[in-house]
Amino acid sequence: MMPKVLFTGMLPPGWGTIPQARFAAFGFEAVLDGRDPYKSEEIFYFSGFRPPPGFLNTLPNLRAIFSLGAGVDGFLRDPDFPRDVPLVRFVDQTLIHEMAQYVVMHVLIAHRGQRFFDAAQHESAWHQRMLLRASRETRIGILGLGDIGTAIAHSLMPFDFQISGWSKTRKTIPGVKSYAGASELDAFLGQADYCICVLPLTEKTRGILNAALFAKLPKGAFVINVARGGHLVEADLIAALNSGHLSGAVLDVFQAEPLPATSPLWTHPDVTATPHIAALTDTKAALKFIGECVRRAEVGQPLPHVVDVKRGY
Ligand code: NDP
Repeated sequence: MMPKVLFTGMLPPGWGTIPQARFAAFGFEAVLDGRDPYKSEEIFYFSGFRPPPGFLNTLPNLRAIFSLGAGVDGFLRDPDFPRDVPLVRFVDQTLIHEMAQYVVMHVLIAHRGQRFFDAAQHESAWHQRMLLRASRETRIGILGLGDIGTAIAHSLMPFDFQISGWSKTRKTIPGVKSYAGASELDAFLGQADYCICVLPLTEKTRGILNAALFAKLPKGAFVINVARGGHLVEADLIAALNSGHLSGAVLDVFQAEPLPATSPLWTHPDVTATPHIAALTDTKAALKFIGECVRRAEVGQPLPHVVDVKRGY
């Protein structure tokens, strides 16, 4: 009999219509909560994204949990999360590249003033304008230099920007100035014309994108948040944009998702808002990831990318 993997929570689009034979090809049987009958005692493996709080605690024999996203805050927000069960996060090159593409695209749109030319085209107006600043004089700061932050730094390098990053521990990445720990955050912020957030959402980072942080960025700084909505105090961002201290923002994640139609972020002239699509989990890659994790767990091999639950990422 194939090992069963129970799924619930937010799943990639179309997940519920995948035929069982496709899961079997990756070495496991999929059980979809609410669709397939199962007994909680027979479930050894769970996979999903943001499962309902308390749900995992109803599975007494869990051996491993596989997150379908790179971030695991949707698991650890659960006060009843079974902390003794290994939690594996999804680390996938396609997802990492897509995150980097999203950020590079939006940095270049802002850097080149593309929204100005879009508006001019709308009026059939031939408005030439110099770049506001050369790329070699433009300082890009990345909050979080993990798998995704590092890929973003590498992807921006060919454009001749000055690149820095902030992380908990010091990094040695050629071409990237490393700032580490709370004591170096202010120095990092003071030189970040673009502030890109790709931190995990933890107790330490929740609400980090707030009025105090914005005030420490250079005047005219641009903010990109592709991490989690919980990092950003949305009202503080709007105030900093309205005061002119920040020149613009790109947001892919929000405190409430879907972003309510009444949110001022939809219509703010200096905000680009996208529906949490910077990178969506690729189905084939996810099936391969789960299959490999199950195979390893079944033969007692160590699991990859196990989250440090105490640290929160
Ligand atoms: P990693 O775990 O690889 O990297 C996290 C980075 O953040 C590390 O450099 C870490 O420092 C740093 N960090 C964590 N806490 C602190 C802190 N308190 N102070 C300073 N630095 C800190 O994560 P990923 O790069 O894979 O992913 C980052 C996040 O991106 C995910 O958690 C998720 O929320 C988000 N994401 C969003 C997606 C979207 O579609 N919008 C898609 C995928 C991910 P150190 O290296 O020293 O430990």
